[in-house]
Amino acid sequence: MSKKIFIFANESDSSKYTERQLKKKLDKTGYTVIPEYSEGADLMVCIGGDGTFLEAMHRFNFPSMPIIGINTGHLGMFQEIAPSMLDDFIFNYSQEKYALQKLSTVSMKVKTAEGVKEYLGLNEVLIKANATYSVHLNISIGGNFIERFSGDGVLIATPAGSTAYNYSLGGSIVDPRLEVLQVTPIAPMNTTAYRSFTSSILLPSDLSLQIVPDMHDRERAIKIVYDGYSVQYDDVEEIEVGFSDVSVNLMRFENYDFWRKVKSKFL
Ligand code: NAP
Ligand code: MN
Repeated sequence: MSKKIFIFANESDSSKYTERQLKKKLDKTGYTVIPEYSEGADLMVCIGGDGTFLEAMHRFNFPSMPIIGINTGHLGMFQEIAPSMLDDFIFNYSQEKYALQKLSTVSMKVKTAEGVKEYLGLNEVLIKANATYSVHLNISIGGNFIERFSGDGVLIATPAGSTAYNYSLGGSIVDPRLEVLQVTPIAPMNTTAYRSFTSSILLPSDLSLQIVPDMHDRERAIKIVYDGYSVQYDDVEEIEVGFSDVSVNLMRFENYDFWRKVKSKFL
C-alpha cells in the first residue's frame, strides 16, 4: 500500500503554490496525498514558518507520525527544507535517508475550583499579569519553596523553544539533545521591597515547578500563554509546570546540524 501523506499549509501565496507543486510530485511518485488529517498518516508536511508549524501541532494535538517542515519565507527553526528542495526531499524520503529529531513539550496544569486544565507548549508556557500590574508568584521547585517572584511574569521554555521568546528575554539557547526546562523571568523586580532571580534557571526533566499566584493582589487576573495562545484566569489556585511525555518527531536530513541552523538564523 502506498504511503499516506497529509499536507498542512498556511494561506500565503507561496505556501499554496508549494503545496500544489508538492502534491503533483508526490502523486507522480506514487504516494497518496490525503485531503483530511488522519492519525494514520505516514507523514505530515507542514508548509509555512514556525508559526504555521506550531499551529499545526496544536490543531492536530501533537501528532506522532514524522513531520517535515517546508519554510516559505519566515524564520523557520522547525522547518527543514526550502521550497526549491522538493525533489531532494522526495528522493531522501523514499530512500529513507533521514533522521528523526524528537522534540519534547512542556506541560502546564492549571488548578481552579472547577478542576485542572492542562496546556502543552512545544516552545514554551508562560504566566503573566493580565493587566499592567506586576504579578507575585510563589514558586516552588520539586516541592521546596524557592522564591516569591515579582515582575511581569515567568516563562518556561523547552530546548526547542529556547531560541524563541526565551531568547528575546535574555535566556540561553539550549541544544535540543538536552532534556531540560528553562525558567526565565520576565522583567523581574529587584528592590528592597521585592527580590527575585534575575537570570534563567535550568531544571532537569524529572523536576516540576509549582506556582501559586499571590492571593492579596489587587488584580488577581493572570494570563496563561502557551506557544502564543492565551487564556485568562482570575481564580487560579495552583499551577504545575513540568516536562510532558508528549513529543513530536521532526524529519531531518543528512546535513542538519542544530548549531549550524542557529548560526544561519541568528548571527
Ligand atoms: P509571532 O509573534 O508571529 O512570531 C514570533 C517569531 O518567533 C517569528 O519570527 C517566529 O518564526 C519565531 N519563532 C517561533 N518559534 C520559534 C523557535 N522555536 N525558535 C526561534 N524562533 C521562533 O508568533 P508565531 O509565529 O505564532 O510564534 C509563536 C512564538 O512566538 C511563541 O511561541 C513565542 O516563543 C514567540 N514570541 C516571541 C516574542 C518575543 O520574542 N518578544 C513575543 C511573543 C511571542 P516564523 O517567522 O518562522 O513564524
Ligand atoms: Mn509567525
